[in-house]
Amino acid sequence: MTHGLSSSDKAAAVIDGKAVAAEITASVAVETARLVAAGGRAPGLAVVLVGDDAASQVYVGAKGRKATELGFHSVQHTLPADTAEADLLAIVAELNVDPSIHGILVQLPLPRHIDTMKVIEAIDPAKDVDGFHPINVGRLAIGERSRALVSCTPAGCLVLIKRVLGADLAGRDALVIGRSNIVGKPMAQLLLQESCTVTVAHSRSRDLPELARKADIIVAAVGRPEMVRGDWVKPGAVVIDVGMNRIPAPERGEGKTRLVGDVAYDEAAAVAGAITPVPGGVGPMTIAMLMANTLVAACRAAGQPEPQF
Ligand code: NAP
Repeated sequence: MTHGLSSSDKAAAVIDGKAVAAEITASVAVETARLVAAGGRAPGLAVVLVGDDAASQVYVGAKGRKATELGFHSVQHTLPADTAEADLLAIVAELNVDPSIHGILVQLPLPRHIDTMKVIEAIDPAKDVDGFHPINVGRLAIGERSRALVSCTPAGCLVLIKRVLGADLAGRDALVIGRSNIVGKPMAQLLLQESCTVTVAHSRSRDLPELARKADIIVAAVGRPEMVRGDWVKPGAVVIDVGMNRIPAPERGEGKTRLVGDVAYDEAAAVAGAITPVPGGVGPMTIAMLMANTLVAACRAAGQPEPQF
C-alpha cells in the first residue's frame, strides 16, 4: 500500500479513501497544534442540526467527535423540527460574530418551512466551511480558490484523483456525471481549474456511455445504484464513485441492505486504472475536508499561513 493505493497486476488500484482521510486528519491535528503554538485560537466548529432526521444525527455526531479529537473547539446546536426560520437565522447571526467559532455548518436537509438558501446566505462566507455560500461558489468559479472555502466532497475527490495521477492534471479529459450544487458543479470547477477538459453530464445528457469511454477521469455523483457499467470505462481511467445508495441485500438475510455506489464496482475495476470503493472511498474524505476547511478558516482569521491539503 502506497499513497492510499493498493493494486495487483490485473485489477485496478483501489483508492483507499479511509487511509487518505486518516493522513489528512493527522496533518490537520499537527497544523492545529502549530496554529495554537503561534498564538492563534484553536479552530472552532459549530454544527447546527434542526429536527431529528436519523441520518443527519449520525453525520452531525461524527463531525463533532472528529473535531474534538483534532483539538478543535466543537459546539453543537440541536433545535426542534418546528424551529422558526427567524430563530435559526438568529443563531447563525450569533455564531457569525463569535470569535471562538471559525466554521459554521448547518446540516442539510432543513425542514420544509425553512428557506435553505436564505440560511446558507446568512452564514459569514469566511465561516462557510461547507463551501455552499454564493461568495465561495463564485470565488471558485472565477479562479480564486485560494480565497474560497470549497465544498468538502468534491475537494476530497480532487485529493484522491491527484494521489493517483499526480499534481498535474492538465489536458486530461474528465467527465463529471451529476450537476448538483454540492458535488457535480464544484467538482467540474475544480477540474477545470486544474486545466482538465471537463464534460458535465446530467439526466438529459445523450449517450452517456460514449461520453464516459473518452474520459481519463470519471466522477460519478448521481445517486443511481451501479449505473456506470464496466464497458463505459476507458482502460486505465481513474474512477471516483461519489454515490451512496442503499439497496436490498436478501443474501444477507431478510430485510438486510447494503451500500453501493453509482458505479458497478467489479466490472469497472476490471478495466479502470484506479477506482474508489463504496464504502471506504469518497465518504471518509468528506469529513476530513470539513476539518481541513475549518482549520483553514481559523488560520485566515488569525492571519497565519494556511496549510494546503
Ligand atoms: P442530486 O442533487 O440528486 O444530483 C444528482 C445528479 O445526477 C443530477 O444532476 C441529475 O441530473 C443527475 N442524474 C440523475 N439521473 C441521471 C442519469 N440517468 N444520467 C445522468 N445523470 C443523472 O445528488 P448529489 O447530492 O449530487 O449526490 C449524488 C450522489 O452522491 C448520491 O448518491 C449521494 O448520496 C452521494 N453523495 C455522497 C457524498 C459522500 O460524502 N460520499 C456526499 C454527497 C453526496 P439533473 O440535474 O438533470 O436532474
